[in-house]
Amino acid sequence: MDKKLDLSSIDILKDRIFLLGSKEPRQGKCVLYVMSRDQRVSDNHALLCAQKHALAKGLPLAVVFCLYPSVKHRSREQYQYMIDGLKQVEQALDIVSIAFMMLIGRPKDKLRAAFEHLQPDAVYFDFSPLRGPRRVQDELAGLFPQTAMYIVDTHNTVPLWIASDKKEIGAYTMRPKLHRLFGRYLVEPEVPLQHPHKWTGQLQRISQLETLIEEVLEGLPKNQTNLSFVSGEDAAKAHLENFIATKLPTYAADRNNPEKDAQSDLSPYFHFGQISALRVALRLQQVAKEAGGDLHLLHSSKMPKPDDTTNGLLHGIDALLEEMIVRKELADNFCYYETHYDSVEAAPQWAKASLKKHETDVREVVYSTADFERAQTHDAAWNAAQRQLIGTGKMHGYMRMYWAKKVLEWSKSPEEAFKTLVYLNDHYSIDGSDPNGYAGIAWSVAGVHDRPWAERSVYGVIRCMVYDGLKRKFDITAYENQWKK
Ligand code: FAD
Repeated sequence: MDKKLDLSSIDILKDRIFLLGSKEPRQGKCVLYVMSRDQRVSDNHALLCAQKHALAKGLPLAVVFCLYPSVKHRSREQYQYMIDGLKQVEQALDIVSIAFMMLIGRPKDKLRAAFEHLQPDAVYFDFSPLRGPRRVQDELAGLFPQTAMYIVDTHNTVPLWIASDKKEIGAYTMRPKLHRLFGRYLVEPEVPLQHPHKWTGQLQRISQLETLIEEVLEGLPKNQTNLSFVSGEDAAKAHLENFIATKLPTYAADRNNPEKDAQSDLSPYFHFGQISALRVALRLQQVAKEAGGDLHLLHSSKMPKPDDTTNGLLHGIDALLEEMIVRKELADNFCYYETHYDSVEAAPQWAKASLKKHETDVREVVYSTADFERAQTHDAAWNAAQRQLIGTGKMHGYMRMYWAKKVLEWSKSPEEAFKTLVYLNDHYSIDGSDPNGYAGIAWSVAGVHDRPWAERSVYGVIRCMVYDGLKRKFDITAYENQWKK
């Protein structure tokens, strides 16, 4: 990404756009939006930009999704969830006369063939900080020097490159930047218009690809997960409304208690882009206004105490904004500016030195990836967390920290621990393979976004967590019993 696009007609949208490479575009036959991370039709700035371009040039518009059969670590449950959501994307696009086509295969090869055949005037990609999509985008930009290609950040509330131009040290350096910029981007997005220029070429609709999709699904490992999440954009909005009605008033107080079902459970919807954090923030702003307040932005010291329902609601809103904006956008910042986001290499210097110093410390126990995977450790709380993950496709956020810290403690090296965690998290978690996951593991194992703590065996000065800490915080036995074999 080397140049910001200057399209004055696109106003605030232009902050969200990057031009891939410098181009002297030639006239093409259509406009394409390559959907990847943001699998929704509403509140999708990449789709809006692509449509503006197509309307300005009088061209047909298609959304292309490339289904890659063998993404590392992914499971059948995760793919089924994604495909269910994409069917709804196709239907929602039908309503506004925008074409949808699914390709199956290696993205670079399939998209290259599609671009050669369709000769687009411009291609829009949605933004991901992860290396896979970025590599494909860069390679395609190199292969098609006369096609304008843009990346649009419609995942973060504040476009990543506007929020910060460097790897942030932690939430305390990211928070003031987001706090300052958030208001500018808290803007109701436009809705896609009826597209007047009909797509006349051949399309591969999802329903025509059922046999091939079935083959892809059968090629993926199936887990024993009983997912309770309903996939798709409509389900995401309904989930948000239900959360606001039932859990928001107690969210601030209870979300870190694994015994209580008090988290938002929005992460699967964010991960697959079925709802945007911007939409959630706009909805929270409405709720706050109805309760006589406003968005108390990101841990304001002026917040009243959560001593009644209204204050509980405002505290809930504040807490959710902190998680879903500061923490989530910090994770994107980390993966974008840190090449080694999924290994111990990402550790800050103080953490690297300390892990090195303690690499030969004797471990009390050492488990293999298979032991961890089968929840066969001596620690009932750890096993319960692993069983919750396998059984439901999502582990409670507080237990995720304990779970990862213990893998560091019981692995033969930090490198091995990181690898095991990436595998377990990406494979079993419905929200896995996400910047939040890599940042969460890097925080747990490698001190990323944290500071040095008191030195101890194996951990060095990386913050550690202990079973007694869980006991003090909540009824750990109740949690263990809930996730017994
Ligand atoms: P809530 O607590 O209700 O939070 C709302 C939203 O805020 C979340 O959906 C998420 O988008 C964001 N958020 C909350 N906590 C964090 C955090 N610590 N860092 C970044 N964003 C956050 N999150 C994932 O989305 N995918 C993962 O694969 C993932 N793996 C993790 C692994 C480890 C080892 C750790 C320590 C954390 C991981 N997290 C991951 C972050 C966090 O635990 C989850 O986002 C959260 O538990 C998801 O549940 P929720 O939507 O109910 O969260």
